[in-house]
Amino acid sequence: MHDLAHNEDTIIALATPQGIGAIGVIRLSGQSSISLVNKVFKGKDLERQESHTIHFGTIRDGDKILDEVLVSLFIAPKSFTKENVVEISCHGSNFIIRQVIQVFIRKGARPAKPGEFTKRAFMNGQFDLAQAEAVADLINADSEAAHHAALNQMRGGFSGEIKHLREELIHFASMIELELDFGEEDVEFASREDLKKLVNRLLEVINALIHSFDLGNVIKNGVPTVIAGKPNAGKSTLLNALLNEEKAIVSDIAGTTRDFIEDELIIGGVAFRFIDTAGLRETKDTIEAIGVERTQAKMKQASLIIYLFDLADTSTVEMNKEINRLENTGVPFLKLGNKLDKVDDTLVESLQSQHPDMLFLSAKEPEQVEILKERILELVNLDKFKRGDTVVTNIRHYDSLLQTKNSLEAVINGIDGSVTNDFVAMDIRRALHYLGEITGEITTDDLLANIFSKFCIGK
Ligand code: GDP
Repeated sequence: MHDLAHNEDTIIALATPQGIGAIGVIRLSGQSSISLVNKVFKGKDLERQESHTIHFGTIRDGDKILDEVLVSLFIAPKSFTKENVVEISCHGSNFIIRQVIQVFIRKGARPAKPGEFTKRAFMNGQFDLAQAEAVADLINADSEAAHHAALNQMRGGFSGEIKHLREELIHFASMIELELDFGEEDVEFASREDLKKLVNRLLEVINALIHSFDLGNVIKNGVPTVIAGKPNAGKSTLLNALLNEEKAIVSDIAGTTRDFIEDELIIGGVAFRFIDTAGLRETKDTIEAIGVERTQAKMKQASLIIYLFDLADTSTVEMNKEINRLENTGVPFLKLGNKLDKVDDTLVESLQSQHPDMLFLSAKEPEQVEILKERILELVNLDKFKRGDTVVTNIRHYDSLLQTKNSLEAVINGIDGSVTNDFVAMDIRRALHYLGEITGEITTDDLLANIFSKFCIGK
């Protein structure tokens, strides 16, 4: 268990993004934050105000007024960090913000380190480690699915389930350690059958969580998708049709730039990331130029392949050969017969009977691309996520889950192979350690530093 953090330091950082905005919010946290702000704030006496109140006034550096501001007060423990927190809403100019922060640093605050607000919240018991990490994920989420997964995790997610099973395991661990205390005497406080049952139950949960990471990973980072096919099949036409529509939607949102979402498309709240499509726009011969092997390698990295056939220029033999190759990749793929406008119905009907799951369209007709989107969503099978099952999105959790699984399997093998109690106890302890790492019951300074350094300053 970690100690509660008795931080004497008052930390300060800009909580809103760097750059010019209508408002910039500067946040301070620490026992002395309110008295510190009171020293330079002219308006009401902040130390005599109640929690969760807002006050208008000016921030001064000596006689000089730096800005007119609104000050929000959160008195410990009713704040994000569970310490006294002050949020100052200034005018969002870089100059003002720099001046205000500097005045507080001269008065005794210190600049916050990356993630330090969230770290304090964790240390003061606001939430567990997995939830703290979800704060970062929530801020970074750029699709509905990623947002949903992060929010679910922030509100507890699988933490509760893991904690519960961990407690049951602790019970067994203590029983077995008690047996060890009795040394040579042949006592058995912990029924090996019950222990095995519990460990198997745990393994079931852990395996499901491990399995969910495949899904979690694509939810968080986007489904890696490859558009493949022979030169001139219509790949770039299709990509442009998919992305252009997106561009129209996105440009409605003020301030979003096209560059940022380059080659990413959100369908049904899920992000699809098109791999290596830059070449599609540059040269028609990319696929040929990079060779069949590299194309294969690229396709294997994907979670989804959209494969285009030029209906007007592909023989059945050739098509079947390609489909065979696609099947060998083991990656879900969508067969797309393109340039529907150029061929007659007989060909389409004949192909349809051979390949019932082939989709026929013209990439040149934007409205036909809608059907494609539906099919793409079906292929990645996100039903599980929609049902609200818990999904692991964090690679650190995934890693700890794998370690837990190994230790638990060792426990089972130990019981079955009749190894001595101390070995079983050791494996249980190891499993407890890795489980505890996920939610933060077990932490090391290195682990915490590593996690919170990935946050931005101000979080
Ligand atoms: P890529 O080499 O696979 O990227 O193919 P492109 O997207 O550059 O398309 C090759 C040619 O086929 C271009 O002249 C496109 O305008 C044309 N094309 C693409 N899709 C269609 C379609 O659905 N119908 C017709 N008639 N032409 C298409």
